[in-house]
Amino acid sequence: MTEKRIPHTDLDGLLGRLRERGAVYAPARDDAGDVALTQAPLDDPMVLEYRNFRLSPKAFFLPQSQTLLTFCDGEAHEPSLPDGETFLVGVRPCDAKALLALDKVFLDGDPPDPYYARLRETTTVIALACTRPMSSCFCTSVGGGPGDGAGADVLAVGLEADLLLRAQTPKGEELLSSVADLLADATDDAVKEAEKRVGAAESLIAPVEVDNSAQRLRDGYDSPCWETASQTCLGCGTCSFLCPTCHCFDITDELRGTRGRRVRTWDCCAYPLFTLHGSGHNPRPSPKERWRQRIMHKFRYAVENLDRLFCVGCGRCIRNCPASMDLRTVLRELGA
Ligand code: SF4
Ligand code: SF4
Repeated sequence: MTEKRIPHTDLDGLLGRLRERGAVYAPARDDAGDVALTQAPLDDPMVLEYRNFRLSPKAFFLPQSQTLLTFCDGEAHEPSLPDGETFLVGVRPCDAKALLALDKVFLDGDPPDPYYARLRETTTVIALACTRPMSSCFCTSVGGGPGDGAGADVLAVGLEADLLLRAQTPKGEELLSSVADLLADATDDAVKEAEKRVGAAESLIAPVEVDNSAQRLRDGYDSPCWETASQTCLGCGTCSFLCPTCHCFDITDELRGTRGRRVRTWDCCAYPLFTLHGSGHNPRPSPKERWRQRIMHKFRYAVENLDRLFCVGCGRCIRNCPASMDLRTVLRELGA
């Protein structure tokens, strides 16, 4: 594993080199003061201190609305797949790890999803270790951590004067070697400083007990806690849309005369119509069943069927729910 460092003052040069290869998205502060992954010729120095983005990078790989094919006078045409490179710089480790969950769904199937596969292939993810976890974060309880590089091609750790860069994949190795002239070797002091900073961030994260969640949720399927916990859910879908691992979608054909297109659009299990059958029957008729499904999917069904949790503990669903729903409450109640 290649390990290098680059002074903060040279980051603009690094981003410039990446821009010569393709589209670069990096953290930038918007007018409201929020930091988001933004594509722009950045005049200001790259933002390095920020809480996680409100939107996860999921949409770079699974767009919220995506044309799968167009048709005209009885003939279907598949859209050409993108071939330019994209670099996502500053993705937080939880969101990078979420890509491994999406890979299970969209790459491990037979056949793999060609749209998702191409975007994964052409996108390089440079994660930036967290230094400022929020009270809603619990990545350390679901197999991740503020310095975890899983899912990223390169993991960067912010130091006092440098960024430590660790290649995590062959794509990350290639990237570091392509900008080798901008990089210095990592020193022992730099590695120790990185460990110290990551350790300090880890110590700020409160644990949530999720060990053996599949079995505990199996046992708790009929628990009265689902009714109680779901009472305030508005069915707005914010939790699913912001979640970096939620991936349910609907496919619709949009027609105008003999022309049209087939579109894949994000969908959400909190919506009453999500499981409504053509017969009128709905197996998840109330928020209780819908909320239970969301938790069961992430902490039980995904473990049973895909061998991994489908929650990376990013806390977005907790921070952004307008009804203050908190999946940790249910997990604690069920001892999951
Ligand atoms: S964000 Fe909150 S209110 Fe909206 S669907 Fe999710 S749990 Fe329900
Ligand atoms: S379920 Fe909530 S905490 Fe878990 S990955 Fe999704 S948004 Fe983040």
